[in-house]
Amino acid sequence: MANRRLAGAAVLVVLAISARAAEGAIRTDRLTGKAVDRWRAIVAIVEARDAAGRPAHPRLNALWHAVAANECAVFVELPAPSGHRGYVVGEFTITKLAADGRALEGVVVMNLPAIDHAAAGPGAARRDGFIPFAKLGRTERYAEVLGHELAHAVWAFSSAERARVAMVFGQEVRAASRRVLVAQSAAAGSGVEDAARLARLSRAYEEPAEAAEEAVWAELVVERAVR
Ligand SMILES: [Zn+2]
Repeated sequence: MANRRLAGAAVLVVLAISARAAEGAIRTDRLTGKAVDRWRAIVAIVEARDAAGRPAHPRLNALWHAVAANECAVFVELPAPSGHRGYVVGEFTITKLAADGRALEGVVVMNLPAIDHAAAGPGAARRDGFIPFAKLGRTERYAEVLGHELAHAVWAFSSAERARVAMVFGQEVRAASRRVLVAQSAAAGSGVEDAARLARLSRAYEEPAEAAEEAVWAELVVERAVR
């Protein structure tokens, strides 16, 4: 009897540990009020299944589970309209590294009002012609941005060097843009080098995320057409 109770307790402990691990790396502790419902609606798209029981958006679903399975805790933040820079629709940053450079903590910020207001006409096309958010509903737009940010996370988790880039990228870009602006206003030549470096850094960092975002967008549009 005592043994069985003990065994029962052991099972409970194991369940508690695995529940914590499965709850995983995508943390919603920082969400309150309406943001919780918004987030649930986005996750419902991530976890949506087709008639055969397969993920309706395989790329988005795979990105999600890759991030959730990682040891790095990723906090989700959906700031209130006034609380964030108006034009940035989303951002992923590593906020804590282990001594050996592994990512331990990161944050995904999604600016839902900016996503709502983002133009999705021909004028918003990227260099390859892709128009973010075209033909998507409100929550699907959020899911597209989530796909982009999750792709940044997966990229950052793949090496210590990338984790470091994901930690300093935002700062570096802001600092470099400031230097470019100062150089331009002083009509000096040094700004050109900074501008080129900034463009290179942005391309290396953004290209994989933009490619993933485009794939997620295509999945969302196809599913919308089927429905
Ligand atoms: Zn990005």
